Amino acid sequence: MKAKKMTEKKLPQRQCMGCNERKAKKELVRIVRTPDGEIKIDASGKMNGRGAYICPSLDCLKRVRKSGRLARVLETQIPDIVFDSLEEQIKLLNVLS
Ligand SMILES: [Zn+2]
Repeated sequence: MKAKKMTEKKLPQRQCMGCNERKAKKELVRIVRTPDGEIKIDASGKMNGRGAYICPSLDCLKRVRKSGRLARVLETQIPDIVFDSLEEQIKLLNVLS
């Protein structure tokens, strides 16, 4: 239904579920609910499914985890293990950068 604007020159921006800041898509971590209903961390940013974004920040993760917003956006329950692996992922990203 959505027509893609080919003339768009700006980097695609997405909103973090934790702090509500809009950032370049590639600066955020994507969490996706696959068509099979699995919740995955999408490192490539290209996985099929409904996606949500979060800053690679433990503060934002904490906020998201507390608010339950991710479950609402993805319309499914988020298992603890997803948050745990997100935390690991974010820690790793912070070590690397
Ligand atoms: Zn954030």
